[in-house]
This record gives sequence, structure tokens and C-alpha cells, in this order.
Amino acid sequence: MGDGALSVREKSSTARVVPSARPRKLAKVPFVELADGRLQGVVSSGSDIGRVYVSSVAAGSYAYACSTNNNRPCGGARGSFCNHIRALVGEAVLQYGAERVGRYLKVDAEGAADAHALTSVMTGSRPGPGDGSAAAQVFSRFLRHLAYLELPASTGPLPEMQWFPTTGAVAA
Ligand SMILES: [Zn+2]
Repeated sequence: MGDGALSVREKSSTARVVPSARPRKLAKVPFVELADGRLQGVVSSGSDIGRVYVSSVAAGSYAYACSTNNNRPCGGARGSFCNHIRALVGEAVLQYGAERVGRYLKVDAEGAADAHALTSVMTGSRPGPGDGSAAAQVFSRFLRHLAYLELPASTGPLPEMQWFPTTGAVAA
């Protein structure tokens, strides 16, 4: 009898917990993809919870770009990868594995052991700033991705959602 009551409670708590199995990672790097010849994605600001960065690294050249979702250039991405790009590489390795990320970005196999090694190889080649013109596209794909996640209301308000613009625009 008691067991039955417990399992019902377990079920309902599981249903609430599963969709946000990686809340910390989602908050730091909520979106990452290997697309259009780039590793690209969205990274939360370390200092300002209401701001996100759209970061990218091009395959082969490792040309990098980082700007806010309002198209302001990232102050840290001058001369080398900023912390957002480094976080993006780290998350990509968690999601796709170092080998696949390395292959996509054309980092040779020996340099693709982990996120740190990948980053070292790429920054070691002294890449230049890349074309950040795809940032708006990446950001809109991220918004669509968020809509698919269907974050349950029961998890409470997410501070990092404050910048989320007009929910209706991405409902389709
Ligand atoms: Zn940055």
C-alpha cells in the first residue's frame, strides 16, 4: 500500500526532473551546433545574467567571432578566443565528443583528445577574427530550439530567460 503511494510520488517527481537533467550546463551554454562549416552556439554571460553571446569558430581557419545577441562585439574576443568561445568548445565536446568536434573543425586527430587540447591547437595557430554575420541566424535557431525544449513551468522562473523576446514570434 505504502509502496504504491510512494511510486506515484516518484513518478510525478521524475516527470518534473527529467527535462532539466542538465540545468547548469543549459544555463552556461544553452545552444551548440556544428553547422555551416562552423562550431557555433549561444553562451550565457558570466557576469550579466540578462545577456547572452553568440560565438562561433570556423572549421579549418579557426576564425572566431563573438558578439552579444544585440550585435555588440565581445570585448574578450580581441586577439584570441574569449571565455565564451572556450566554453562553447567545452560544451561541444560534452555533446558531440572531442573526436567529432575535432574532425568537424579540421583539427588533426592528435590534437583532438579533449576540449583543452582542441582549444590549444586552434589558438596556437593564431586564428584571426571571423565573419560574425551569421550570429542573428544562430540566435534565431537557438530561440526555435528553446521552443522545442518546452521547458516545464513547474521548474519556476529561469533567470536566464529574462532576455527571451516575444514568445509568440517563435511559437510556430
Ligand atoms: Zn565572447
